Amino acid sequence: MKEVILAKYGEIALKGMNRSQFEAILVREIKERLAPLGEFSVTWAQSTVYIEPTDEAARRATDDAVYEVQHVFGINAVARAAVAEKDIDAILTLAKEYVPRFLAGVKTFKAESKRSDKKFPLTSPQISAAVGHAVCQVMGGRIKVDVNNPDVTVVTEIRESNAYIHAGSLPGAGGLPYGSNGKAMLLLSGGIDSPVAGFMMARRGVRVEAVHFESYPYTSEQARDKVLELASILCEYTRSMKVHVISVTKIQEELRRCCDEDYFTLLLRRSMMRLAERVARKYGASALVTGEAIGQVASQTMEALTVTDEVVNMPVFRPCIGMDKDEIVTRARQIGTFETSVLPYEDCCTVFMPRRPKTRPELKKVLAQESKYDYKTLEDEAFAGAVTYPAGRKI
Ligand code: ATP
Ligand code: MG
Repeated sequence: MKEVILAKYGEIALKGMNRSQFEAILVREIKERLAPLGEFSVTWAQSTVYIEPTDEAARRATDDAVYEVQHVFGINAVARAAVAEKDIDAILTLAKEYVPRFLAGVKTFKAESKRSDKKFPLTSPQISAAVGHAVCQVMGGRIKVDVNNPDVTVVTEIRESNAYIHAGSLPGAGGLPYGSNGKAMLLLSGGIDSPVAGFMMARRGVRVEAVHFESYPYTSEQARDKVLELASILCEYTRSMKVHVISVTKIQEELRRCCDEDYFTLLLRRSMMRLAERVARKYGASALVTGEAIGQVASQTMEALTVTDEVVNMPVFRPCIGMDKDEIVTRARQIGTFETSVLPYEDCCTVFMPRRPKTRPELKKVLAQESKYDYKTLEDEAFAGAVTYPAGRKI
């Protein structure tokens, strides 16, 4: 019996002229992820990537291979499937041999079919009925058919080259292939929102690199490690991610010495944006990404965002902008960053936090405050002192 992995495209299936470029990136990503596990043949047709283990190591690693493929952006669903000739007897024999392993302890199932090869002599309902019957036969009285709410759906697909049988699909990561849509610099804090923002951009195919601002010794080494940990969790999807760490300690100390407290956060955020843009340009990223959501905190009102954006000459993407906190938390749990994000280490933004931050700042007043300290020299120093950490997956 031959078992393969079927990985089904998401949005790439809707692409027209440039579809092959997306497919090429997608398939390269899959091949690179599978290479350490063994030999696989990877082909594609009809909006599906067919992955067949071709050596013993690969066959033994099929579960790991499924995990890898589930984390590839551009894939919406992943199924382990057995392959049969396009002949109903061969299909039924295979169903009896292959399907019972997915039904241990299962009470109900239904059989479904998809027939993209319309020349196949049986219709989809006929195939489903035959496969359902074969499964009932081999399972004896241990399982019942329930077409409305089955525990397991056994799917038979009659495709161009072969027939495939599987017991349902696992979700894929969705989106577009990683790296198919340029590169952006994520402002990554240790909080809940920015890892989610990075994930959402990466899922749209944008290669993501991160910049993190710290305020050592006001912020701790654990706070930095936490951010690197968050980056490595995102690497389950992106495989690698550089994190550029910049100290803003001196900027914050000078701010405190020279400017009105109400403006600390806004002025710091303007420095962070200017520095992030410099890092972005240095590393070939053409946009910034933040985890801001409108109205979430004082620095995220329309007026405050306008004042911070004013210093940047590249697009600033904020994929969380219209999300409620609980929606962001749900996504953070789903991608696995939440537990790390809520570890209680301080962020540079909370050091010297004003008691009454400006929620409706006027640009004129902000500029007057900013002119009170030499941010240019301080930012040059901070930029020169940036340290880059390569984050990667934990084995
Ligand atoms: P998060 O949960 O992502 O920390 P937040 O709601 O706490 O967001 P802020 O602290 O105001 O909001 O930060 C808003 C955004 O600014 C963050 O989502 C992130 O993109 C960026 N940011 C904040 N602090 C830092 C930092 N220390 N380093 C890099 N970026 C930061
Ligand atoms: Mg934060």
